[in-house]
Amino acid sequence: MPRTRFRRCRACGEYHWTDAWPANHVEPQPERSALPAPMLALDTMDALWHPHDGRLYESKSEFRAITKASGGEEVGNDTQTDNRKVDTVTRDDVGEAIQKLNQGYRPNVQSEALPN
Ligand SMILES: [Zn+2]
Repeated sequence: MPRTRFRRCRACGEYHWTDAWPANHVEPQPERSALPAPMLALDTMDALWHPHDGRLYESKSEFRAITKASGGEEVGNDTQTDNRKVDTVTRDDVGEAIQKLNQGYRPNVQSEALPN
C-alpha cells in the first residue's frame, strides 16, 4: 500500500508519514460529545400565560422574574431526592404465593385493614 501523505508535525517540527505517525507526537483531541450538535438551553418558549399579571410571556427569564417578584415559587424542576428502591415482584414470587395459597395459607388481612 503506497504511503499517501507526508505532513509537518506540530509537536517536534519534523515531517512524518501520516499513516506511520509516532504515537508520542499526537496532539490530544479536545473532549467531544457523541451528539452531533451542542444542546442549547434557549431563553425562548411558546407564549405562556402568567397567573400573577395575566400577561403572555415568551421569555423564560422574564416569566421567572415575574414569578419571583410576585412571591411565587417555580416547582417541578427540582432535583430528584427520593432514591428508594422499588421492590419488584417476579414471576417466581407470584408462583410461590399461589403455591402457598394452594397449600392452605391465608394472609391475616384484618391486621392491615384501615381504621374506621
Ligand atoms: Zn513529530
